[in-house]
Amino acid sequence: MAEFTMELNDEQKEVRDWIHGFAADVIRPAAAEWDEREETPWPVIQEAAKVGIYSLDFYAQQYFDPTGLGIPMAMEELFWGDAGIALSIVGTGLAAVGVLANGTEEQIGTWIPQMYGDANDVKVAAFCSSEPDAGSDVASMRTRAVYDEAKDEWVLNGTKTWATNGGIANVHVVVAVVDPELGSKGHASFIIPPGTEGLSQGQKFKKHGIRASHTAEVVLDNVRVPGSCLLGGKEKLDERLARAREKARQGGERVKNAAMATFEASRPAVGAMAVGTARAAYEVALDYATTREQFGRPIVDNQGVAFQLADMRTSIDAARLLVWRASWMAVNGKPFTAAEGSMSKLFASETAKKVTAQAIQILGGNGYTREYPVERMHRDAAIYTIFEGTSEIQRLVIARTLAGVPIR
Ligand SMILES: Cc1cc2nc3c(=O)[nH]c(=O)nc-3n(C[C@H](O)[C@H](O)[C@H](O)COP(=O)(O)OP(=O)(O)OC[C@H]3O[C@@H](n4cnc5c(N)ncnc54)[C@H](O)[C@@H]3O)c2cc1C
Repeated sequence: MAEFTMELNDEQKEVRDWIHGFAADVIRPAAAEWDEREETPWPVIQEAAKVGIYSLDFYAQQYFDPTGLGIPMAMEELFWGDAGIALSIVGTGLAAVGVLANGTEEQIGTWIPQMYGDANDVKVAAFCSSEPDAGSDVASMRTRAVYDEAKDEWVLNGTKTWATNGGIANVHVVVAVVDPELGSKGHASFIIPPGTEGLSQGQKFKKHGIRASHTAEVVLDNVRVPGSCLLGGKEKLDERLARAREKARQGGERVKNAAMATFEASRPAVGAMAVGTARAAYEVALDYATTREQFGRPIVDNQGVAFQLADMRTSIDAARLLVWRASWMAVNGKPFTAAEGSMSKLFASETAKKVTAQAIQILGGNGYTREYPVERMHRDAAIYTIFEGTSEIQRLVIARTLAGVPIR
């Protein structure tokens, strides 16, 4: 197990500076344009693929960094560049992690390369769990997967919503109900291969922020996939369902379910995205406050402005520490006995919302215009308190973990 450290090693610093360079030179200058266009920034994703930032190798290297700091460091720098573009770059990773976590070696080897494509022909992937009537309440999911034993095929029907890259993805990972009696324990994940008949994009959402990232409904109308597309395989699913049925017979489980545990482990990454956006806005505000003069002196000479900057920086550093701690715990298999993953996401996302609003205030009228990036950063920051579990759900998870009562 790696010791917890707040110091990046030389190799990590090199990687951080490399990502920062890409964020500063390629992502940041393109941010306003793609925000206005509200389209997937394919040329930027392609650039990221060319330099190796958009690839499974890069993601896996950071993911398996034993210090736990690889992913938060990468996320912070990319999202410092721009949240919408960065989500377009890392969105595929969410689907890839779904396969890495639940898939067999063969499924990992077959599907993950198809999620990314290559530098000359980049592809993206989508992870589809949320539904119109199943957002925070994942257990009320309705998309159904039924096994057709004669053909060894699964048949999926339902509507997914809010899917990042939904409908434009080469590979979709879809969570569906295989046993409605078991609530969230009766869910399983499926690969929907490229060009599968019956999968189509529904509405594409026009959003408040992260507008360069494509978000859409995904409609599944009698989608048939081979048995081999069930992540983890049928045998493992049958064993898992049998265990869940047995536990249900015994009166339910008094511990967190596996899906919750997985979310807990992925939440620090979202916290790190929020830290990146908050830091970007803080830096703009600090620079502005030291150069903008009113009443014959830089506005930072006013305690009212200086104290805001002090609070902004303090919150950002505190958020990063919570994110790094949770990420280190997740990578090293330390149990989240106080829902430390949720804590980090809650604090970092609320910090990003607050800090970006403070940045607008410090820039005055300029902060309110699209001439300066802080209004975009503020719009972007609002997503962090919503996706991967809202702030209310994080509080619920933390409170129930502390109280030792089941989370659902
Ligand atoms: C831009 C974007 C991208 C997304 N990407 C993906 C994706 O790639 N894949 C995917 O599967 N999903 C994705 N999502 C979905 C996201 O995870 C959900 O929006 C989120 O989980 C909240 O669900 P909901 O929108 O249905 O809100 P609801 O669950 O309807 O919540 C509405 C409000 O009620 C509150 N609330 C609900 N239950 C409780 C409770 N028990 N106690 C207190 N308050 C409660 C919530 O906190 C919230 O404030 C994305 C969403 C957005 C906006």
